[in-house]
Amino acid sequence: MAINTNLLRSLPKVDECLKDLEPVLAADIPQVIVKSAIQQCIERQRVRILEGGAGDELSGDEWRQLFLVEIATRVRANFRRVINGTGVVIHTNLGRSLLSKKAAAALVQAGAFYSNLEFDLATGKRGSRYSLVERIICDLTGAEAALVVNNNAAAVLLVLDTLAKGTEVIVSRGQLVEIGGSFRIPDVMAKSGARLVEVGATNRTHLFDYEKAITPETSLLLRVHTSNFRIIGFTSEVPAEEMVALGRRHGLLVMEDLGSGCLVDLSRYGLPREPTVQEIVKAGVDVVTFSGDKLLGGPQAGIIVGRKEVVDRIKKNPLNRALRIDKFTLSSLEMILREYFDTEVALKNIPTLNMLTADPVVIKRRAQALIRRAGRKVEGRCSLSLYATVSRVGGGAMPEYGIPSWAVSLVPHDAGVNNLEKDFRDLPVPLIGRIEDEKYLLDMRTIQEQEIPMVADILIAYFREGSAA
Ligand SMILES: *Cc1c(COP(=O)(O)O)cnc(C)c1O
Repeated sequence: MAINTNLLRSLPKVDECLKDLEPVLAADIPQVIVKSAIQQCIERQRVRILEGGAGDELSGDEWRQLFLVEIATRVRANFRRVINGTGVVIHTNLGRSLLSKKAAAALVQAGAFYSNLEFDLATGKRGSRYSLVERIICDLTGAEAALVVNNNAAAVLLVLDTLAKGTEVIVSRGQLVEIGGSFRIPDVMAKSGARLVEVGATNRTHLFDYEKAITPETSLLLRVHTSNFRIIGFTSEVPAEEMVALGRRHGLLVMEDLGSGCLVDLSRYGLPREPTVQEIVKAGVDVVTFSGDKLLGGPQAGIIVGRKEVVDRIKKNPLNRALRIDKFTLSSLEMILREYFDTEVALKNIPTLNMLTADPVVIKRRAQALIRRAGRKVEGRCSLSLYATVSRVGGGAMPEYGIPSWAVSLVPHDAGVNNLEKDFRDLPVPLIGRIEDEKYLLDMRTIQEQEIPMVADILIAYFREGSAA
């Protein structure tokens, strides 16, 4: 293939483009951004020419247009708020959990002011950041001691590194799972220097499987919540109590990676029964780990609870220092935990729990409110209607579990739903819905009451401007 050298030679010079753009650009746009955007546009065109995919030479206006679009995407913040219309409540890609008002306020305070992060106000001496939440976690879970690290993956790594390095850890084959974002128990185990001993079959593991595998090298019996994976049918796993009894008989510790960290029995609200942290602690498991931002509904964190002597050893591990949480996590986590002192308050104030347990009647009313605000104004260009759908719990435990919900369905008259989906993603506050059955759906379970006017305005503006054409 002959490379079009004329086209290559026609590529503009960066300095000339800079001069050309200057009069049309706002003065506060940093030069580095402008220059780098121009370079990237030219580079992209060069690649296109080399690959034979470029058409004719671009005019000055066309270049200017390319530059301006690229500059515009670079001056706006990369990390942005979005509106979650997917109906997936614990949506890892959209930030998992939302904080309660008090937790969000605490986080802002922690950022704007000095704090007693590691300062003991009673003695005036250096304090421990963990002491700020340890008592509360223990009161809520019934555990003797607690520690919080960066996330649950870090918690599992830290516990294994402390308790099982260079020894054998027995795990059921049915629990050797990969949890989203490539967290795999066998890999984490390898990193920690513990040796994995698999027992049982994928669908069934019995107490005698564990017992037979115990050797003088064994240090730990590990239980892992299978979270995003379910084995159904002829299955069996050993209950926590029986494993604890086995561990005691052989002088072995028992650990459970619980994943979601549920503190409230959600089966009372129509969701599947999940073991709560309290139950696992009560069963006598020596050390339990769980996420801060899954069913707990708090900030990203990994919480470790368990027997005091075990947690004390974990606290002393130098690796702990590398995995420690920051003041933003601590401040917001404390406030989220405090909500749990009263279950009703937790269900009301913690958005994750609130959305998961929301009454379909309330969700339906939200959908109707959106249609009332926007329906008439987009008429002729898009049909809005009430649509019965199913939301998903998302991340961690029961990710695929469906909860009946209500959506607003959008059927644009002269554009495909795929265009709609793409255009909504490109808004200053992107609107993220899902496509089902040639309809664009906004599941109102994950759209908050106060976001309804905003969503209505987005729809009205979009269809009024005729961007759908
Ligand atoms: C989600 C999950 C993890 C990882 O937790 P992060 O907080 O995302 O690091 C580990 N184990 C289980 C069982 C999980 O469900």
